[in-house]
Amino acid sequence: MSAREWFDTPDATGTTDTGERGLRFSCTSCGACCTGPTGYVAFTRDEAGGIAKRLGITLSHFMRWYTHDTVEGRSLTERKTEHGHDCVFLDRETIPGKAICSIYEDRPSQCRTWPFWEINLRSPRHWKSASRGCPGMNTGRLHAPEHVRLTRERDEIG
Ligand code: SF4
Repeated sequence: MSAREWFDTPDATGTTDTGERGLRFSCTSCGACCTGPTGYVAFTRDEAGGIAKRLGITLSHFMRWYTHDTVEGRSLTERKTEHGHDCVFLDRETIPGKAICSIYEDRPSQCRTWPFWEINLRSPRHWKSASRGCPGMNTGRLHAPEHVRLTRERDEIG
């Protein structure tokens, strides 16, 4: 049994009034987390292989064309747009007014585990701070505390 954490409390974020425990999150496909200032999207070798296969290219071509070195290590590359530094896989064309991930099913763990990152779950204050940049947080689907914890662990492993 895991130790109780702040999000085990009913209505932990002050946005649910059903008495259910957990955190609400449903992505609105606004794209805000995939653009902005220049950033860093980590990926494992297996994830790189999966994306390369999806794109129908070799791993070395994927590394050369879609990734670059950063101080944190190798990252997916970015494209400067009117919105900021978009992830190279952010698609603003397919659905007007939306920004979707063009490799969604094969996206790296860093993207897959948002917003249940350790840094966002440290306290209600950290969660609230992250939610200012993500309109999908505190709305939509309720994620049970165990799901939140498991997702956080996946992020730490990834
Ligand atoms: S900022 Fe939040 S709502 Fe917007 S695309 Fe990212 S996860 Fe979805």
